Amino acid sequence: MIGETGLAIRTEALRLGFSACGFAKAEPVSEEMARVLDHWTDNGYHADMQYMERNRHLRLDPTQLVPGCRTLIVVALNYYPKHLLPAEGYQIAYYAYGKDYHRVMKDKLYQLFSYIKMLVPHVEGRAFCDTAPLLERYWAMKTGLGFIGLNRQLIIPGKGSYFFLGVLAVDAEIEGLSDSPIIEGISCGGCKRCLMACPTGALTLDGIDCRRCLSYLTIEHRGPIPDGMVQKLGRRIYGCDTCQQVCPYNKNAQSTEEIAFDMPSEVADLTAQDWHELTPERYKALFKHSAIERAGYEGLMRNITSRN
Ligand code: SF4
Ligand code: SF4
Repeated sequence: MIGETGLAIRTEALRLGFSACGFAKAEPVSEEMARVLDHWTDNGYHADMQYMERNRHLRLDPTQLVPGCRTLIVVALNYYPKHLLPAEGYQIAYYAYGKDYHRVMKDKLYQLFSYIKMLVPHVEGRAFCDTAPLLERYWAMKTGLGFIGLNRQLIIPGKGSYFFLGVLAVDAEIEGLSDSPIIEGISCGGCKRCLMACPTGALTLDGIDCRRCLSYLTIEHRGPIPDGMVQKLGRRIYGCDTCQQVCPYNKNAQSTEEIAFDMPSEVADLTAQDWHELTPERYKALFKHSAIERAGYEGLMRNITSRN
């Protein structure tokens, strides 16, 4: 059973707006996880993300990433939008509708950490949200928050997968640690909807082949969208949610209460013509501090115009 400190931290996490919070002992990841990661990079599935090959030892062992760390506190923050863009218009990945999640998540993580400092004297730690070689989804699974689906997302039973994950690595042992270790018996079962729905065949039983993934190609990739992939873009101009949209675990997804993730009306109101005529100045004004900054003006305009 989870101890009093863990319960108090979880209660505060929920008060701060997180949807879930779990605790895992900081230790090296399982040999199976290490094999999965190696297999993924050996296959070249990480495309041009060379950083995935670096710092393998840190990625596989959080106690090397944060020396002295004893507990990983994993939180999930809902980003499912209140209002979806009309299906007939250009599409942006849900996670990028509003403000850059790194800022929002870090802000909340530090608020949670301040609270923990009041409970646990002299505790030290670091906050992470996609900002370090840390396998967030694996650790979320280890805390008992959910399981990793065939779409490679962390799925929280009853809530779905539209969540950002954040981690606090602290040097204290939080009593009780995980009260619900890896969820037994809950998985994808015989479902393969995401594999069937992926427009490019990027999803495999071995993981996502980023060289074919529209999310990777429209956000991380530099240079032209490869031949054969442009035709698969459809209405997507930034990211792709297809393998989450078809997942039955997302059927009853609740919209986020975090107003920072709301799409500003001046973005929601852009017509296809407005997108095509976007200038660098207007881009800067519209997407300052937005997740869309990641692709840069050139990347976004490449996505918009490459289908012409
Ligand atoms: S994000 Fe889109 S392209 Fe990438 S794996 Fe999922 S469905 Fe396929
Ligand atoms: S769509 Fe089906 S196979 Fe894919 S992650 Fe969801 S439950 Fe698993």
